[in-house]
Amino acid sequence: REQEIEACAAFLQSASKIAVLSGAGISTESGIPDFRSSNGLWQKEEVREAITRSCFSRQPERFYYYFSQLFLSWTDIKPNQGHLALADLENEQGKWVGIATQNIDGLHQVAGSKQVIELHGNLRHAVCQKCGTAKVMNGIKEKLENKMIPLCDCGGILKPKVVLFGDPLDMQEFRKAQIWMAQADLIFCLGTSLTVTPANTLLQHRRHDSKLVIINLEATPYDREADYVFHAKVGEILPVIVQKSQTGD
Ligand code: NAD
Repeated sequence: REQEIEACAAFLQSASKIAVLSGAGISTESGIPDFRSSNGLWQKEEVREAITRSCFSRQPERFYYYFSQLFLSWTDIKPNQGHLALADLENEQGKWVGIATQNIDGLHQVAGSKQVIELHGNLRHAVCQKCGTAKVMNGIKEKLENKMIPLCDCGGILKPKVVLFGDPLDMQEFRKAQIWMAQADLIFCLGTSLTVTPANTLLQHRRHDSKLVIINLEATPYDREADYVFHAKVGEILPVIVQKSQTGD
């Protein structure tokens, strides 16, 4: 593993544009459970059925019941060594780093990363389904804690600004992420099973001569295409690679 880390550090040193595709696994070390790993609410079919666009439209009470269970526990969460290592690359080493994340937790930005595309939206904002007003999610959280459906002043139901199953992605942002992948000479896939479409199709846009490094606890369908694969925790491997690329030792 030492040699593989050295090789990735060398990639990083010579890379001029770095693109990152991150998933729920980069945030588990901050205490946010991912969805696909064995335990957790997501294994329950009724939860998966409820967190969808069609359930939100037909039965908002049911949607919010499960949505609250999934997300209300995410209080006082902080970026971990993985998020911070990416921010360091950009802010301390002056590298160009573009992060396309499937996460909705906002932790890359809290860590200090400046170029972040939130492919699946975020939990900071909500939009009224009737009048279209954008709201900050803070006020909504208290309502969810009291088991109330968050409503706009106009009486319309507020929808968190996250991409639910059945929702389209923001195509302008997705196109930008494709361009980042196409321009990068080094791509990191961090804590993602690479099974969620269309996010995983971003890898199809990479240059044939770009380097691909995957850090994920489990095997992914793209492991064979990668230059280096670490089946390990992002927070254990990435900071070491970043550190070594800086010092060269
Ligand atoms: P995913 O498909 O990205 O899978 C997560 C992967 O991370 C798994 O393969 C797991 O083995 C791996 N992993 C877990 N901890 C890790 C660690 N410390 N280091 C390296 N790898 C690790 O994501 P998912 O959980 O299937 O969720 C699907 C979608 O649900 C996401 O794309 C996102 O939209 C949403 N979600 C977001 C968050 C968040 O914002 N933090 C959390 C859960 C789910």
